Amino acid sequence: MNLGGKVAVVTGASRGIGRSVAVTLAELDAHVVVNYAGSADAAEETAALVRGFGVQALVIQADVSDQEQVNNMMQKVLQEFGRIDILVNNAGITRDNLLPRMREQDWDAVMNTNLKGAYHCAKAVLRPMLKARRGRIINISSVVALAGNSGQSNYAAAKAGLIGFTKSLAKEFGSRNITVNAVAPGYIATDMTADLSDESKAQLLSTVPLGRLGVPEDVAAAVAFLAGERAGYITGHVIVVDGGMAM
Ligand code: NAP
Repeated sequence: MNLGGKVAVVTGASRGIGRSVAVTLAELDAHVVVNYAGSADAAEETAALVRGFGVQALVIQADVSDQEQVNNMMQKVLQEFGRIDILVNNAGITRDNLLPRMREQDWDAVMNTNLKGAYHCAKAVLRPMLKARRGRIINISSVVALAGNSGQSNYAAAKAGLIGFTKSLAKEFGSRNITVNAVAPGYIATDMTADLSDESKAQLLSTVPLGRLGVPEDVAAAVAFLAGERAGYITGHVIVVDGGMAM
């Protein structure tokens, strides 16, 4: 599982699942680029945790929905490290509402961050990965992509789109030793899910065979596996990390 010397870019690494992924990859000896949108202090906290494992952390503010900002970020990474081995497309937002009340701007915001953001980042890292003839791209989808969810048609569409994107890239770049996989978390306790009422949480919990809600580390473990050498023959796959909720 050792990722010694590898460079990983984790989008949305200031908080939640992204922070846990950054820390887990650092624990495995990867240098980590901590991307964030607005939470500079939280991103610095993630970076401090990363550096605690004796590896380098580079904090970069960039909105993944903006191709130019993403290109500038990847340029900086290449200037600093000269390589990008692992990309984790984790940055994501929700703008929930039933469809009749869903504003076009909420549809667009979710698409532009969750789906187009992954397109921007993957496009920007492919050149160095193709040159190196190796790479790992891991897209954070959701079980909502597989099962749908009332009030989340924008989010489900974006996350399902990510799965099609994952499989297509896996086919395009498999011959260049670049693997592309997705992780689909179930309910994970982060800021994104903090607003759920206790009643909704109890209802969700009753659908989880493993009898507990997920934590970011559950997702990070799957990402770390896919990022490692031992997952070298796995591509185009979706690992569901949901305690059995969506089967
Ligand atoms: P979170 O706690 O809300 O954190 C979201 C992260 O994404 C933050 O670091 C945020 O940066 C970053 N971000 C948001 N918009 C961005 C943008 N335009 N450009 C760059 N970074 C941006 O969310 P989370 O629960 O950890 O979720 C992480 C991923 O897992 C998301 O893709 C989410 O859809 C997915 N997921 C989560 C769950 C769950 O139950 N929590 C389940 C399934 C899938 P700032 O801090 O700077 O705002």
